[in-house]
Amino acid sequence: MEMYKLTADEIMKKDPELAIIPVGSLEQHGPHLPIMTDWAIATELGRRVAEKMDAFLIPALPISTCREQMGKKGSVWMNPVTFYQMMTDIILSLKEQGFKRVAILQCHGGIFIMTPLVRDLNAKYNPDLMVANVDICTFGPILHKEGIIETNTEVHAGEGETSKMLAIAPETVKMDLAVDFVPSVPRPYLNYGSIYRASPSGVWGEPTKATAEKGKRIFERSAEIAVEEINKIFDYMSKKGKINYSWF
Ligand SMILES: [Zn+2]
Repeated sequence: MEMYKLTADEIMKKDPELAIIPVGSLEQHGPHLPIMTDWAIATELGRRVAEKMDAFLIPALPISTCREQMGKKGSVWMNPVTFYQMMTDIILSLKEQGFKRVAILQCHGGIFIMTPLVRDLNAKYNPDLMVANVDICTFGPILHKEGIIETNTEVHAGEGETSKMLAIAPETVKMDLAVDFVPSVPRPYLNYGSIYRASPSGVWGEPTKATAEKGKRIFERSAEIAVEEINKIFDYMSKKGKINYSWF
């Protein structure tokens, strides 16, 4: 049960200490996937992780930063500095009402301001508040190694994302339009031109290998990996002592 469906009094009674913030993005996902893809994935994964950890779930944030997806109507972004301020405000509002731990589930790869955001919050507020960030892009190589997905080429709208959408919103997926494309430039080249410069379709990966069954397994395993990672991070932070003036 998503805790945001409860009343404030019911939440008071449960008194959770951990909050989960899934973060998505509204952006083009090639000719075959809807622009809501990252948000839909964030919603599903957030629900699963919050349930496993009995955590307070913030509804997945639909918009973040995605300048690299410019070129066709439908990609919507905010400035990285706005995202930094917005997340700081949300997390400090949680701290003020007694939350001690916040876990961000990053379900869109292009949020590069996430690193200084998390580092600054921990440096300023440890040990009273701990903030973990788990980027699901880092799960790809694990899922590939475990044989859950066949390809290890995905940056955007490839086998993994397409499989996940086939599992949760198949009516939005146009498999007949899916095309594989792996650009010749490395990912950091998204700093030098929109994704359409690297891939004419806006796909970076191999979506034709996607199936709903793979999507189901990806969600199950991703929820497990996310919980393990979050616990590992909080465990590391909670064992820290003070070094001179600093708890960080
Ligand atoms: Zn995506």
